[in-house]
Amino acid sequence: MGCTRLNPAYIYSKIGRSPGPWGESIVLEHSHAVAIAVEMSAEMISQAPDSAATTETAFEYFEVGKIAMILTRYINLLGYQARAHVDGNYRVMCVPIAADAGLGELGRIGLLLTPRFGPRIRLAIVTTDLPLQPDPPICFGVQHFCEICKKCATNCPSGSIEKEGKADFCGVEKWQNRQDTCYRFWRTQGTDCSICIRVCPYSHPNSVIHNLVRWFVGRNALARKLMLWADDLFYGRRPRGKHRPPDWHA
Ligand code: SF4
Ligand code: SF4
Repeated sequence: MGCTRLNPAYIYSKIGRSPGPWGESIVLEHSHAVAIAVEMSAEMISQAPDSAATTETAFEYFEVGKIAMILTRYINLLGYQARAHVDGNYRVMCVPIAADAGLGELGRIGLLLTPRFGPRIRLAIVTTDLPLQPDPPICFGVQHFCEICKKCATNCPSGSIEKEGKADFCGVEKWQNRQDTCYRFWRTQGTDCSICIRVCPYSHPNSVIHNLVRWFVGRNALARKLMLWADDLFYGRRPRGKHRPPDWHA
């Protein structure tokens, strides 16, 4: 979890897929936000694009949603306004708020990359008028690693992830991805895909070796090049073989 002042640029202008009349202007006068991330199981995500990855996505949206609802109610009981922004009921953009709150960095993949779980997380946001102490944003080498890695872009079946450099998008310098072609692939494939999350080197499970690698990668540009070479060697530029879904999923 992390806290930040709420940047009004990250509040949606109109109601979309959430309660309320479609297209109506959004008014949200909260000053602060709490970003919450929960880990998705590496074992389940390793099945992407099979349905186990979709199951895990839905399960963790539910888990992080519960936390957000409990926190919202708690803030209400303190006498302040609060709103939970959870799957299917957003008034704000989760990723840039979570980056402001110090949970991670925006990667080429278009998702938040966190130091411990990479993009293998689900997010929820609680906005509030409760004045909170902001956490500082963090930097652990993601911008450079994503420049040289490109594994998500190479493996994306719909070609939706930018393979080249960043571009200016509404005043923000970032890798611009195609949400429309990504979503079309989901509808064709019948699941939430998640191949890009599966192949991202930051998504590897927490182990002594992986945590040591993360420590070096966060500190040294040469280590990032070396670790990318090692990742290709051990895990392949493209995922190898097919995993068996966990027993409970069957
Ligand atoms: S979810 Fe699948 S289709 Fe969408 S960007 Fe990731 S890899 Fe590409
Ligand atoms: S797969 Fe590579 S380029 Fe894509 S988000 Fe992960 S680290 Fe960045």
